[in-house]
Parts: sequence; C-alpha cells; structure tokens
Amino acid sequence: MSNQYGKLYVVATPIGNLADISFRAIDTLKQVDLIAAEDTRHVKLLLNHYGISNKVVSFHQHNEEKAAETLLEKLRDGLSIALVSDAGTPLLSDPGMPLVRRIKDAGLTVVPIPGACALIAALSAAGLPVTQFSFEGFLPRTSSARKAFFTERLATPTTWVFYESCHRILAALQDMASILQADRQIVIARELTKLHETIVKTTLANALELVTQDDNMRKGEFVVIVEGADKVNKKEEELSPEQVNILCILMRECSTKTAVDLAVQITGARKKLLYQAALDLEKAAGA
Ligand code: SAM
Repeated sequence: MSNQYGKLYVVATPIGNLADISFRAIDTLKQVDLIAAEDTRHVKLLLNHYGISNKVVSFHQHNEEKAAETLLEKLRDGLSIALVSDAGTPLLSDPGMPLVRRIKDAGLTVVPIPGACALIAALSAAGLPVTQFSFEGFLPRTSSARKAFFTERLATPTTWVFYESCHRILAALQDMASILQADRQIVIARELTKLHETIVKTTLANALELVTQDDNMRKGEFVVIVEGADKVNKKEEELSPEQVNILCILMRECSTKTAVDLAVQITGARKKLLYQAALDLEKAAGA
C-alpha cells in the first residue's frame, strides 16, 4: 500500500457526558482533513465544546454506500478522514460498516481511536459475567418477532446484551417476561454517564414491575443485559432451603396445587421443581 494514501480514523465520541473523550480523539478530530459524521449538527455540539473547527461532511445510513465511495476516493487522494457517529463507537449499532469494509478491501489503513461505548460501559458496571457475552444490537420492533428472538435465546449460556429505546423498553420487557423465567437476573442500564444514570440489577419480574410503575424508568436510552441460561439452569437443579421452607408453610395452609402455584409466584422457582418437592414432602409426612 502506498504511503501517500490517507487513513480513516474511527473515532469514539461521548455517550452523554462530554468529558468522556480521549486526548487522542480530540487531537485526531483537530488534525484530520475532514470529519465524516452521522449527523453534522450533532457532532458540531461536540466540536464547538472542544474548540474544533474542522470540515464536517454528512455520512449517514441512507447515503452510506455512495458516501463510502466518495470518501474512499478522498483517501486515495491522500486526505485523512475521521468517522464519528452521534454517540459512542461508530459501527456499533451505528453507520460505518460498509465504509470500513470497502477501505479494508481496498488495502487502505483504518485506525481505531477507542472510547465510550454504551454496551461496554453497561457491562463494566453490571455485575454479570463478562468473560463471554453476545451483543444483539437493537431488538426487533414487533412483539411477535421479539418473542421469537427471546425464545431463540432461552438456552444461551452466556450473558447477552441489547439496546432499546424508551418507546419500546416496556413492551420489550413484557415480551421477555412472557418467554423467560421470572427469576432471570437482568440489568437495566439507563442514561449512562448522564445526570439521571440508573443501573438496576434485579430479576426480570422486578424489572418489569419497576419499569411499569416508574415513569422515569421509561425515559432516556437503555442497555439491557440478561444473565445467561447456564447459571439459571444450575439454579434450577435444586431449591434453596428458603424456597422449600416457603413451600412447607404454604402446604400447611392450602392444597398442594395451590401451595405450588403460590410458591412459584413468591419464590420465582420452577413449577416442576416445586411440584416434585411438594410430592417429596407429602411422602415424607406420610412415612
Ligand atoms: N454507537 C453507540 C455505542 O457505542 O454505544 C450506540 C449507538 S445506538 C444508535 C444508540 C443506542 O445505544 C441507544 O438507543 C441506547 O440503546 C444505547 N445508548 C447510547 N447511549 C446510551 C446511554 N448514555 N445510556 C444507555 N444506553 C445508551
């Protein structure tokens, strides 16, 4: 590859707090020949904040293929370009993929300038396993497609993460609760790095309750992290002493069927496990 070609810098920008940007990112935005931005007005807020008066061109998903070709020509002419999205790391649920692929295929250089990314920020503060995880981007928009999506992930053993908007967070949790067990641990990370940052780790049932009851929990931007099924399955193998105790108390007061149904609601444990425990308790009592 000839040295006379320009480089594409993929620059991460803040996801809320304007201070979350690296010195290197600011230097890059100052020094490149032009900045390709998802929304030129949006990026200007950031550029003005840091006193950067560089040339900005529009690069959004509706003109991506055409703009990629134009930008590739500019790189071939020796210009250096910074790619930025509205927030966080470009390409992560943001435009840029066709451009980066085209530039790589052409043998030119792409340089990452790392920084904020909502999914990584959320994972870092979630308290769920991160050794392995899958990022699912945005969920499908219709309820039936979301339910199919959740059904496919029922047995996913590792942590999974998705982005959701304020318009669909409640519907997404409702659909999730119709497919996944009530006691699945999830983390709702809302408005990260902003004034109303909220990171709640709880069961799916509690999260749904919280988002249903609290209007503020349906505002802003969301990352949702879901515990993998591996841990859930292990939990299912046996009931805790508290769960058995609750079942015992209920069985003293009502029929086995009602006691098991109530215990499912109170403990969140699997009905099959509670029913087997009820049979064992009855057997032990009769022995
Ligand atoms: N490229 C970005 C990144 O690196 O995270 C993501 C862009 S995507 C178009 C926007 C979505 O990311 C939002 O709808 C939300 O799900 C998530 N997101 C972005 N900023 C966030 C924040 N401050 N708090 C929570 N979620 C955020």
